[in-house]
This record gives sequence, C-alpha cells and structure tokens, in this order.
Amino acid sequence: MATTSHRTDGFGESVIRRMTRVANASGAINLSQGYPDFDPPEALTRALAKVAGTGPHQYAVTWGAPEFRRALADKQRAFMGVPIDPDENVVVTCGSTEAMMAAIMAVVNPGDKVVVFSPFYENYGADAVLAGATPIYVSLSPADFSFEAKALREAFEERPKALILCNPGNPSGKVFTREELTLIAALAEEFDAWVITDEVYEHIVYAPRRHLYIASLPGMWERTLSCSSLSKTYSITGWRLGYVIGPKAAIDAAKKVHDFLTVGAASPLQEAAVVALRFPPSYYDELVAQYSRRREVFLSALDRAGLRSTRPEGAYYVMTDISEFDPDDDTRFCEWMAEKVGVAAVPGSSFFREPVTHLIRFHFAKKEATLLEAGERLQSLRSIWAQSGYVRGRASGSRAR
Ligand code: GLN
Repeated sequence: MATTSHRTDGFGESVIRRMTRVANASGAINLSQGYPDFDPPEALTRALAKVAGTGPHQYAVTWGAPEFRRALADKQRAFMGVPIDPDENVVVTCGSTEAMMAAIMAVVNPGDKVVVFSPFYENYGADAVLAGATPIYVSLSPADFSFEAKALREAFEERPKALILCNPGNPSGKVFTREELTLIAALAEEFDAWVITDEVYEHIVYAPRRHLYIASLPGMWERTLSCSSLSKTYSITGWRLGYVIGPKAAIDAAKKVHDFLTVGAASPLQEAAVVALRFPPSYYDELVAQYSRRREVFLSALDRAGLRSTRPEGAYYVMTDISEFDPDDDTRFCEWMAEKVGVAAVPGSSFFREPVTHLIRFHFAKKEATLLEAGERLQSLRSIWAQSGYVRGRASGSRAR
C-alpha cells in the first residue's frame, strides 16, 4: 500500500478537541474546548438571516471581501493604533488557526527555528512542524507565568526566524506587560526575527490589566504579523473568520499561502459580520463586563469546591491543581472526571513542553447557569473521587507532540 507522509508522524489528535468528544459521549458539561454556549449578538444573527436572501453566495475576493476588510481595518486601527490599509495590510482567513498557519508559512523557511512560550496553545508546535520549522521553547513559570529574560535571550541566540506570542495567553490567562513586550521587541530587533501574534482574546482582559498590541511598539509594525479572529469577540467560533494584519510584503506572501490553502473565508459570513465590526466601543466594554462576571462566578465555584486555581488576567481559562487526586496522569483524571463528575476539562500536559501532569484547564465562556451547575458538580468531586476507588495512574504520555 502507498505510504503516507512523515509530516504528521509526531502529531496526536488535538487533545482539546478530543475532550469535546469525551464530554459529549459522557453528557458532561463541556468546560474543555473554549467556546460559548450562549448566542452571538442579535444584530449578527439578523444580518446572517438577511444575507441568506440577498447573498453573496459565491466567492469573495480571496484575501477578504472589500467591505469586511474596510470595517476590520477601521476597527483595528482604532484599537491597535497602527496604520492599516485594508488592501495592503490585511488578509482574511478561515479563523485565527489558518491566520497563524498562513503567517508562519509566509515568513518561516523549512529548517528555521521558531520560539514558543510554554505553556502554549497546542496548535503552535504543529504549525511550526507543518512549516518544516523546529520549535524552541521558553518556559513561563507556572506561578505567575513570567519568563526569565536570560532564557529568552538564549532562545534568540539560536537565531530563530520568528517568535509566537499568545497574548492574552491561552491557557495561562497571562496578559504581557509593557516591560515584557518591550523586551521581546528589543530581542526581535536585535536578532532580526518576526513576531507572530495570536491575539484572539484581545477584548477579554480584566481590569486593571490592559491589552497592549506588540505591533504598536516602536519599530514593531515592520516585523509583526498580528493574527486574531472574530470568534471570541463576537461569540461566533463556528463562523471561522480570522485575519492577519501586517506590513505589505509579508501580507503579500500570506495572501498567496491563503489563496492556495483555502481560497477564502465564507463570503456570506464576511458580509454578515460587517455589522459587528462596526459595533460602538460600548460593545467591548459590555463584553469584558460579562466575562468579568463569569470569571467571578466560576472562580468562586472552584473556591467553594476547594480547588486551587489560577486567576486569569485575560482570556477565559483557569488552570486547576489536581495533585491531591492524581498528580501523574491528568489525561486519565480528565476522562474520569467527565464520566463520573460530569464536568469536562483539558489535561494540562497538552499545553506544556515540560513534564507537567498535575494541572487541568477549565474554560468559563458559558452562561452563568452552566457555570453554577458545573460548580455544583465539582463540589462533589472530592467525595466521588474518594468513593470511586480511583487508582492513581502513571503519566499516559498522550501528548500532541
Ligand atoms: N481556543 C479554544 C481552546 O483553546 C478552541 C480551540 C479550537 O479547538 N479551535 O479551547
């Protein structure tokens, strides 16, 4: 039989997406894969219904429908404080997932190195490998997810072509400070590397923290590809609308990658989403107010259940310590918890380069009622665990890399 390529030999199934299947199979409340169980803004669903009648139903311009790009450029110019020309500096993609792949393929050559902070969102290592590059990892210390300047410099001394920056961080909830971003920027300049961002949680940042776009720092526009999407900001993860913003030459390259990979993001959805990109600033204030409430509801529930967790500065994830239940096999613990307790989380090991097996990730992009119900169930976790005769496991090693 003809053989398959070696490209994906090192990949497992995405642990995040597998946990959604586990949650569904056991009827658990799914706090694993991060997406909302509430509806998007009504203005968006109304626009979508209208587009069904009026169209467009055929391809848009491959790098994005003109009206969508104009609205996106206006919005991002206001938030990012950088000059964005909708024709020269934007490519619209199928979610931020494609945006990051297109950005990496646009600037990274096979054989190049790419710096990734650990913990990381699990796609990055795979993205680098698909581009023929090798990831170099720099640890974020689990206490406050800070990094050592010396470790980052050592990574840059390996002459990487790019650094991937997830800010606000998934799964850490870290919001990088101006000092940290300035340090990253200085190293990127010194070693002539690109910064490729994943900023899908740009509008989910809790006071007093504020999101700062690294592309807006002096000298960084020319070496940053800013990737993001509409998924989290407008609660439309299934619409798969993302984008890369950056300087013209790199965007020209990303347009070519995108064109041959997918031709384009869904044109009716781009048309309908224009209304959201034109929402007033109050929309974003309300979004963060709602997520702040969800964060408090869920953190209090974890607290009542006696579960030690991180307090995110941004995004909608918490890492919870499961050492007392099973410090060595977070995957088996998550499967057990989905089935017996009825709440699904993601094993933390899928986010770390280091051998970390005592953390799990919950997300709280859910209705308050869902979060309260999950909290109720988690209150019984300790007693169910004690009665179940759970036998602690060895690390299962079921990692995505
Ligand atoms: N970013 C979300 C998460 O980390 C969803 C990822 C995905 O499956 N596309 O859970």
